Formats: sequence, C-alpha cells, structure tokens
Amino acid sequence: MAQRKLASKGKKKTARPARLEGGCYCGLVRYRINAKPLYVVHCHCGMCRRASGAPVVTWLTVDSKNLTFTRAQPVFFSSSSRADRSFCDRCGTSLTFQYKARRETIDVTACSLNDPEQITPRSHVHTASQLSWIRMDDGLRRYKSELGSK
Ligand SMILES: [Zn+2]
Ligand SMILES: [Zn+2]
Repeated sequence: MAQRKLASKGKKKTARPARLEGGCYCGLVRYRINAKPLYVVHCHCGMCRRASGAPVVTWLTVDSKNLTFTRAQPVFFSSSSRADRSFCDRCGTSLTFQYKARRETIDVTACSLNDPEQITPRSHVHTASQLSWIRMDDGLRRYKSELGSK
C-alpha cells in the first residue's frame, strides 16, 4: 500500500513548549508533534489489542498537520473498513491510527513517545471490550464505545 505523506511543508519557527517527540523501538521511524494533544485515551477495543499485542493501548489524538515524520515513514495499512494503522517496517512498533472518514486528525501511540510522562490520559474508551483481568482504578471517565458515547 502506498505510503502517505503526513509531513507538513516548511517548519514554523514558533516556539511551542508542547512539542512531543517519539518513534519506534528500533529508531527507524521518528516523529515530532508540534501541538498539545486534543485527546488522550486508553482504548480497550479488540482491534487495538490485536494490532499491538497489548491489553490496552493509550492514544493521543492530534491534528494531522501537527504530526511530522522526521526519518523513515511508517508503513500504513487498512486495518478495517473504517481505519488505517501504521507501524515500523523494521521493528513492528504500532504508531498511528486514523479514521478514513476523519483524515484531519490522527492518533499516535502514547508509549511510542520518548517521554510518555509528558501526556496525561483523560478517559477510557471501548470499555465494553475491556478484559476482565485488567483493573485500572484511576477514576477517569469511562465510555462503553467511542469517546463521548454513553
Ligand atoms: Zn522500528
Ligand atoms: Zn481501540
């Protein structure tokens, strides 16, 4: 599948303290995020679980224009009829999730950040799919399906 360019043209010189950097395990794919995340959620859905091999995936959502890959591009693939995911072609780290119908934002795996302590999760989504042996008593808001659902 064709790789998609998410890199913005020309860098702005504005000093943004919110800059986040990260990449994959092996270092081939590196990225920079030039804005504060719009949302940070723990996702319990079965597709994130399968794609990552982990029981929960924490995502930060950013405007697509604020995400720049600074070394190799990840490999994008259609992970369902509704969304694309990406991963490092060499080491396999899961990196992004994006709805096909909502290209203006993209989700990035929080634990691919150099310093995941820079962000703070605000809620749990798809808790209807949460594994029985995962207990996260953090008091955060819980949504049975997508963010904002009941
Ligand atoms: Zn890698
Ligand atoms: Zn998910």
